[in-house]
Amino acid sequence: MTLREPLHIIGGGLVGSEAAWQLAQRDHDVVLHEMRGVRGTAAHRTEKLGELVCSNTFTSTETTNARGLLKAEMRLLGSFVLDCADSARVPGDTALSVDCELFSQAVHDRVPAHPRIAVVREEVRDMPSPGIIATGPLTSDVLAESVRAKLGV
Ligand SMILES: Cc1cc2nc3c(=O)[nH]c(=O)nc-3n(C[C@H](O)[C@H](O)[C@H](O)COP(=O)(O)OP(=O)(O)OC[C@H]3O[C@@H](n4cnc5c(N)ncnc54)[C@H](O)[C@@H]3O)c2cc1C
Repeated sequence: MTLREPLHIIGGGLVGSEAAWQLAQRDHDVVLHEMRGVRGTAAHRTEKLGELVCSNTFTSTETTNARGLLKAEMRLLGSFVLDCADSARVPGDTALSVDCELFSQAVHDRVPAHPRIAVVREEVRDMPSPGIIATGPLTSDVLAESVRAKLGV
C-alpha cells in the first residue's frame, strides 16, 4: 500500500537516511527533516546527511557474531547505508571500516537525488504523524520535550 500523503522522517543521520531511502524505493513520497544547517548539535561538525560523529567503523562483518549477522541481514534487505559504506570502505581486517568523509558524502549526495525524497532543513518541534523520529542521541531539546509530554514522562 502506498500512502497518498508524504511520510515525514525527522533526522538525516544513519537511521533517518536509511528509512527515507527504503520508503522511497517502495514508492512512498518522503520528506526528510534535518536541522543541521539551521541548528547544530554538540557533536556533529558538518551539515552533511549521514555524518559519523566518532568512530569510522561499523565493526564486524563476520556472521558468527550479532553485529556481523545484522549487517548480513541488512544486505539481504538492500541496505542503503551499507551500500554507501561499501563505496567508502578502507582496510580494517574483518571490520567494515570507512573513510568518514567519503561515507557521509555518498549519503549526502544520494538521498536528495532520489526523486521521491525531499530534504528540508529545519528543527522539528513536534512529533510527525505519520512519520518516523530518527533523531538519535542528540535529539534537540524542544523535540525531546514534545516526546516526553506525549508519553507523559
Ligand atoms: C559524541 C558521540 C559519539 C558517538 N560515537 C559512536 C561510535 O563511535 N560508534 C557508534 O556506533 N556510535 C556512536 N555514537 C552513537 C551514534 O550517534 C550512533 O551510532 C548513530 O549516529 C546513530 O544514528 P542516528 O541516525 O540514530 O543518529 P544521528 O546520526 O545522530 O542522526 C540524528 C539526526 O537528527 C538530527 N536532529 C536532531 N533533532 C532534530 C530535530 N528536532 N529536527 C530535525 N533534525 C534533528 C541531528 O542533527 C542528526 O543529524 C556516538 C554518539 C555521540 C553523541
